[in-house]
Amino acid sequence: MAIYVLLGPPGGGKGTLAKLLRERFGYLHISTGDILREEVRRETPLGRQVRDCMGRGALVPDELVGAVVAARLAEDEIRRRGCFLDGFPRTLVQARLFERLLAEAGLALDRVILMATDDVDRLIKRLTGRRVCGQCRAVCNLVYSPPRQPGRCDHCGGPLEQRGDDTEPTARERLRVYAEQTEPLVRFYEERGLLLRLDAAREGLELLSEVSLALGLS
Ligand code: ADP
Ligand code: ZN
Repeated sequence: MAIYVLLGPPGGGKGTLAKLLRERFGYLHISTGDILREEVRRETPLGRQVRDCMGRGALVPDELVGAVVAARLAEDEIRRRGCFLDGFPRTLVQARLFERLLAEAGLALDRVILMATDDVDRLIKRLTGRRVCGQCRAVCNLVYSPPRQPGRCDHCGGPLEQRGDDTEPTARERLRVYAEQTEPLVRFYEERGLLLRLDAAREGLELLSEVSLALGLS
């Protein structure tokens, strides 16, 4: 089964697209951000190591994220269902490490989907307006997809919360870090002929059909 990477700035809609792809085609959605946040929530040793970095909007050390991804690549389910990686790799060091991990696992990277945008205002609005349900983890946005009842999840009525790193100063720092450390991956994957560029300003469902068509998913 195929392995895909979703690349793009914070707020670019990687998570939303990955969720749609999982629902429509059954691909696994591996979000290193979600995995790390869960470790922080459970106060595991890894969670304690990465909490401060994440709170500041900085990247966590390459070797820690690398270990998380290596563990997932070893799972059989990836071979059965294929996956969309969301949030990894995020640095050139990680991209090279990823090539090694894939080779060791006998897997190959099929395509890298770039959610391209330079509309910083919109990214900031998406990030600062994002709310996550404390109960079912559904995501909404106060600006773009407001909940029917203020502060309550549309799906389960649970309390809506803001991620600690979605405040404006930290969101801006994450965009800066993206431009500095992650954007070089666009060239890296372009040179390998793996890049598929999408316009991140488009609607989730539109993106879903464009990706499905481009990748020949059915
Ligand atoms: P977003 O793409 O919206 O910034 P993520 O949920 O992907 O959010 O990541 C949140 C945070 O988790 C990052 O700011 C960083 O601290 C950490 N993180 C996630 N993936 C990686 C990675 N591949 N390398 C380093 N840090 C990561
Ligand atoms: Zn909910």
